[in-house]
Amino acid sequence: MSEAAGMDCIYRDPNAPLEARVKDLLSRMTLEEKVGQMTQIERIIAQPNPDIIKDLCIGSILSAPGSGPKENPSAEDWADMVDEFQKKALESRLGIPLIYGTDAVHGNNSIFGATIFPHNVGLGATRDADLVRKIGEATALELRATGIHYTFAPCVAICRDPRWGRCYESYSEDTEIVRKMTSFVTGLQGKPPDEHPKGYPFVAGRNNVIACAKHFVGDGGTENGKNEGNTISSYDDLERIHMAPYLDCISQGVSTIMASYSSWNGRKLHSDHFLLTEILKEKLGFKGFVISDWEGIDELNERHVENYRKSISTAVKAGIDMVMVPYRYESFVKDLISLVKEQEMPMERIDDAVERILRVKFLAGVFEFPFTDRSLLYTIGCTLHRDIAREAVRKSLVLLKNGKDPKKSFLPLDKNAKRILVAGKNADDLGYQCGGWTANKYGKSGRITVGTTILDAIKEAVSDGTEIIYEEYPSANTLAHRDFSFAILAVGEDSYAENGGDNRGMLEIPFNGADIISSVTDNIPTLVIVVSGRPLVLEPWLLEKINALIAAWLPGSEGGGIADVVFGDHDFRGRLPVTWFKRVEQLPLHVGVDSYDPLFPLGFGLTYKEEKSLN
Ligand code: BGC
Repeated sequence: MSEAAGMDCIYRDPNAPLEARVKDLLSRMTLEEKVGQMTQIERIIAQPNPDIIKDLCIGSILSAPGSGPKENPSAEDWADMVDEFQKKALESRLGIPLIYGTDAVHGNNSIFGATIFPHNVGLGATRDADLVRKIGEATALELRATGIHYTFAPCVAICRDPRWGRCYESYSEDTEIVRKMTSFVTGLQGKPPDEHPKGYPFVAGRNNVIACAKHFVGDGGTENGKNEGNTISSYDDLERIHMAPYLDCISQGVSTIMASYSSWNGRKLHSDHFLLTEILKEKLGFKGFVISDWEGIDELNERHVENYRKSISTAVKAGIDMVMVPYRYESFVKDLISLVKEQEMPMERIDDAVERILRVKFLAGVFEFPFTDRSLLYTIGCTLHRDIAREAVRKSLVLLKNGKDPKKSFLPLDKNAKRILVAGKNADDLGYQCGGWTANKYGKSGRITVGTTILDAIKEAVSDGTEIIYEEYPSANTLAHRDFSFAILAVGEDSYAENGGDNRGMLEIPFNGADIISSVTDNIPTLVIVVSGRPLVLEPWLLEKINALIAAWLPGSEGGGIADVVFGDHDFRGRLPVTWFKRVEQLPLHVGVDSYDPLFPLGFGLTYKEEKSLN
């Protein structure tokens, strides 16, 4: 360790004022080290060449979803890998620790056996800010147990069109609901710095992680719900509808904000100085760092190598502080250094970016606690966290119909029924129940992690004498000849993410969902559970045939929450976080549009209690 990194430096003194530490460390850094801090590379680059972390003074490493230390890694494997990287970072001239980031968007979802919470759309249905804060706390613990300091969450998009493939990452189409759900930031990071007795440190420390509000701004408002599309609006509407939740995140001390791939009125956010600098940093007073999205700057010039330098210049000048490169680190570092040396990039801009990054690192306590606290390993998928997830599932369920006759409710179901038919692919597919961003970006079918499917949960809930028959597509024989008390049919989507989810199949229920509903309901009184990231088409004739209907969203690993409610141990609490449209031709249909004529409006949700009082 060089003299510059001696133990008596101000920046190493945890009792020195935050800004003094930032200034002191910045004053000791070379241009190369500053640019290194602004660089975020992918694990696949770092693992075979760990020395680049030290030599280039790399600021951050990320894992793309599914990109782990080895095949089928354990939580310890993750912690070992991150700690190895951290050792390298601490060997750099000034010993600046790195931060490791992943997309833990509904629990520590890259880790087999972690608790998987409902996706945001389901949490929006709960309207329960306190619960969402607790989910943030649990996620932070399960992340720290694996060495990870940083998550690219929460997504505070306002989804105005369910054709968007990221609808389920949005808490709601309604700004006020999303604002409430930003309590997730406090859950992840702990209380904001100004609520700490000394104002400093640590936002994070050992039990918390750095949050990232994304994607700034207007990602959920694009034309036709196109992912990475264009949001056309006045500034006032952008501020009122899409920007408002960022103010709540900033007041909770959110450390980082990710720029959106999308454009506003034709200008890509990654190049928008007005929104990133004049508004976000200057007007809203955001003091943390702005991170680009994955290869977000490459897209500014459509990935032409000769334009990469220009893209870097545009994005950094616009206000991006850390760049998720994630592979082209050599050109990024070389080009950014040359831009400064050739006076095409003001040094003040680099200093501002690095100050912001260092401030976050000091606040997060990584200088004091760079390594994994292995005593947290027991938290991964622990009962306490699974109970929180199960509570979230219960509260997220929205009861859309209960009985064909309004005076005679169909639910709750009888646990002592003689024979129950459980049907539909989504009744016994943990992967589909979790959705995208689980195990890998696009998610997978099957037993991808530890958890309880709807079928498992029904089996656990019913009495010993009850016979459960499960058929994915019930045969005509089964439907006609068995004596079922009722059927529970779970239909819905498979897993997808980002562009892969845009406008799929005109939002019809996949896998012949409508036909299955029709044939089962023709024969047996049926509860239909829709497992999906968004509302799907339900034509009137089909709805008519269904005895009871529940929107379960993408509930995650704890299917038990569904059994808790359908068998009557708990009441329904969920309210629609998004408008349930009648026909795709109506889209975009959301609160505030003229001629609002939905199948079920935003906020709709029945309960047992209200129904009883009807009788
Ligand atoms: C997504 C981000 C995500 C990033 C890193 C991008 O494709 O838009 O939401 O955080 O990848 O995985």
